[in-house]
Amino acid sequence: MAQQMGVREIVYERIGILLTLAEKAMREGDEKHAKRYVFLARKLSTRYNCRLAKKDRMRFCKSCGMPRIIGKNTKVRLRKRTRTAEYACSCGMTVGFKY
Ligand SMILES: [Zn+2]
Repeated sequence: MAQQMGVREIVYERIGILLTLAEKAMREGDEKHAKRYVFLARKLSTRYNCRLAKKDRMRFCKSCGMPRIIGKNTKVRLRKRTRTAEYACSCGMTVGFKY
């Protein structure tokens, strides 16, 4: 059990590193690698049965597997009346959340 905990910690750390690499690659315009890093991060989370933290899940698009870079492939829309923020990906996928 203690060993299993250790594995999870490493997996979470690796997912964090992979997502950071994905964002970096995306900023440099390297979409192929960005997608690959996100793919690996998601694969790790299913392989080791680690649910991604909410803030990690928000870092990439579920639909096209690209990291979200605001101002590059993601638009942010704010709806004042419902106090909702929407992240719109360039592939057409939007996610909304309360703020
Ligand atoms: Zn997308």
